[in-house]
Amino acid sequence: MQASIGTPLYVHLPFCAAKCHYCDFYSVPAEGHDRRSMVRAILAEAKLRAPRAPSTVFFGGGTPSLLEPGELALLFDGLDDLCGWRSSSSETTVECNPESLDGAKAETLLALGATRLSIGFQSLDAGTLQLFGRVHGVEDSFRAYAAAREAGALNVNVDLIYATPDQPLEQWLEHLGRVLELEPDHVSAYNLTFEEDTVFRRWLEQGRLRRQDEEQELRFFEDTRARLAQSGRPAYEISNFARVGRECAHNLHYWRNGDYIGLGPSAVTKQGSTRSGNMKAIGAYAREALDGRRPQAWDETPTEKQRLAETWWLGLRTREGLSREQAQTRAACGSDDEFLMREVRALAEHGVLACIDEHWQLTPRGLPLADWVAKRLLALAD
Ligand code: SF4
Repeated sequence: MQASIGTPLYVHLPFCAAKCHYCDFYSVPAEGHDRRSMVRAILAEAKLRAPRAPSTVFFGGGTPSLLEPGELALLFDGLDDLCGWRSSSSETTVECNPESLDGAKAETLLALGATRLSIGFQSLDAGTLQLFGRVHGVEDSFRAYAAAREAGALNVNVDLIYATPDQPLEQWLEHLGRVLELEPDHVSAYNLTFEEDTVFRRWLEQGRLRRQDEEQELRFFEDTRARLAQSGRPAYEISNFARVGRECAHNLHYWRNGDYIGLGPSAVTKQGSTRSGNMKAIGAYAREALDGRRPQAWDETPTEKQRLAETWWLGLRTREGLSREQAQTRAACGSDDEFLMREVRALAEHGVLACIDEHWQLTPRGLPLADWVAKRLLALAD
């Protein structure tokens, strides 16, 4: 299926300096891999299926900032030749890690067309960075941030993880305060999760790590929201906080269940009612793409009920919420949504959801229960 003009574009760069112990994104250690060949393979895939004039672009991974300037130029220029993103994209994000973002790299990224840099601080505690398996120190994060600003970055996000094992709440709030002194435009702050197939999950199961208890996680969640709102960066999604006008347009599009095209190993694409994903293994991915075939590994077509439940689940994560009509349109479904509206009304009776100006939203009581609400909604579609 040909993507519509303007469809947002995601590009997955699968290399990292090392694998972080909590991370379940697809990436391989950069050492020993030919990054330039990977860029060529991504461009070969782009030739087959990049959307023309994407409205936003997001270079994620992996660690896109690991690419050398010449590799970045090859990728950014090549993509622009194929889809013209430089003149169409209103927001172009590049994910960066402190160990690979210095002044020269930041200047290169901005000169090539990046408009938003997202920097993975993750923690301001040296011991926690070690536990995470991160290859940078706390000072490296501050250096990378300063380099981005000095290079002229006007829109910067900082990524953080809280409620780490044994972390005192006071320490987290102090660290968050230090980050806010930097005046970031946007903060992504996530409660630590223990995803399947990660080192952290194994350590949790072996009893080597302890999860914070639920009540304490709730305190982290609420104090984080309050502190960020007080700083002028209210939550616009469960884990995302921004100054007004600095919300990430690309991610908002995901939460509105819009279409997008994903290029690169493991990248996911959504077009209409179909979702598909690329091969993960970089060798197989590159061979297929360079041979002129779409390196696709899977595809699925959720039922109308599933699409509707997913649309509600995604939309309820946002501050703007969603109306019944928006949900029907976004899910491309008919008006047979009563099975879901019954549950929505039941959740409202429990004080978890509220309808304000025809838009359904999680209430302050419901916000920390977002995952539980999602499970209830998604279960209706089974
Ligand atoms: S740098 Fe980011 S993408 Fe890479 S392993 Fe760590 S968390 Fe995952």
